Amino acid sequence: MEYISTRGGGEPKSFEDVILTGLAPDGGLYVPRSLPQFSHEEIASWSGLSYQQLALKVITPFVDGAISESDLEQLIEKSYVDFRHQDIAPLVKTGDNEWILELFHGPTLAFKDFALQFLGNLLDYTLGKRQQKVVIMGATSGDTGSAAIEGCRRCENIDIFILHPYQRVSDVQRRQMTTVQADNIHNIALHGNFDDCQNMVKASFSDQSFLPDSRQLVAVNSINWARIMAQIVYYFWASLRLGGPDQAVSFSVPTGNFGDIFAGYLAHKMGLPIKQLVIATNQNDILHRCISDNDHTTRPLEQSLAPSMDIMISSNFERLLFDLYNHDGAVIAQLMNDAKAGSMQLSNSALDRARELFTSFRCDDSGMIDLIRTTNRDIDYLLDPHTAIGLAAARACREDTNTPMVTLATAHPAKFPEAVKKAGYPRDPDLPNHMADLFDRKEHFTVLDNVQSEVQHFIAENILS
Ligand SMILES: *Cc1c(COP(=O)(O)O)cnc(C)c1O
Repeated sequence: MEYISTRGGGEPKSFEDVILTGLAPDGGLYVPRSLPQFSHEEIASWSGLSYQQLALKVITPFVDGAISESDLEQLIEKSYVDFRHQDIAPLVKTGDNEWILELFHGPTLAFKDFALQFLGNLLDYTLGKRQQKVVIMGATSGDTGSAAIEGCRRCENIDIFILHPYQRVSDVQRRQMTTVQADNIHNIALHGNFDDCQNMVKASFSDQSFLPDSRQLVAVNSINWARIMAQIVYYFWASLRLGGPDQAVSFSVPTGNFGDIFAGYLAHKMGLPIKQLVIATNQNDILHRCISDNDHTTRPLEQSLAPSMDIMISSNFERLLFDLYNHDGAVIAQLMNDAKAGSMQLSNSALDRARELFTSFRCDDSGMIDLIRTTNRDIDYLLDPHTAIGLAAARACREDTNTPMVTLATAHPAKFPEAVKKAGYPRDPDLPNHMADLFDRKEHFTVLDNVQSEVQHFIAENILS
């Protein structure tokens, strides 16, 4: 299977090359040239499979022979052993044909573990085969960093450097990153904000001359194709538990960079009957404005109590646009330039096509807090703030009650105690057992100034040979 850039430039690449890089040279994101298709009968035949067996079915065509089936099976098996629920992604009923898909039973209590546990194993395997080593560099405002570190802690061919804004991530999130002890893991606390961290990473990707000749940088944010790919699986999983594929299912997804919900779009394109995909945003609502009003105008970012959704331009939206514009890379390059300059307008036909499947809703902090409070009171279920926004959107956008509506629960409430306590919960929600001693563990991180040469020097010095 060939992978091409959303901006139409450069040569097509293989699966292995795509997962071992970041953006395409023309600034686009890699996507498969065409998608695998599964028939109704084939999907129906998967209803008795375990999560891992299902993952093998969904992922195999994307890998397209680059990894043998038995090796791929082992990589997948290994990637879900640290999940603490036997169903991996259990469904919980919260109302009339209304469900929550709990994606927070992995090692760092957010859905990012689904892809990053797998990506770590996949990269390490591929690098071992090629006798190559790489450096992962990433910026995080919280969840990505810890999931990437957990995913790479046992990798022999990867050094990982994660930048977080000094004193600007929550204690739980910071400790999840800084208490992991391994020689190949490096936490950098940068004097600055999340944008400063991200700009530092971007600048380093565009000029990698600070690295030894034999090393290259690999991205682990959701521009990495393998992350999207691994997330397609749980849409099939949830559907099969709720009567799919005979029964269409709808999903509501707390959205930031549009990676998670884009995986749902791909599941639909691959043959899974999905009725609605609801884009749930917080007060940083650019995607909601775009879908509802064709208004993709950037506004100053507001800090919310659902920080993993505090994003201005959602990188994976570009992958959707590429599809809506029939793979016209030149148009996408122009649109993304417009977006970066402040405002992008979609064509009526692109917008109409998007609206066939997508609806959107905005839920701000106060709406979110209300829903955490009432859900805990009425059904004794504690939502994390991101999931609460998803559930609010699910209820607001739902077209009918015959179609099961599934909200993706993207994080465990214990990761976001501030929002939960604002909703009247009397104390910090309990961390699961395996993390109960998080606040007793020793932290390791290095504080650096927001100076490119200093950060790059630190990285070059600390790469293991
Ligand atoms: C990353 C994250 C999101 C946003 O997911 P995207 O794929 O970026 O849209 C939502 N909720 C939580 C808890 C997250 O960690």
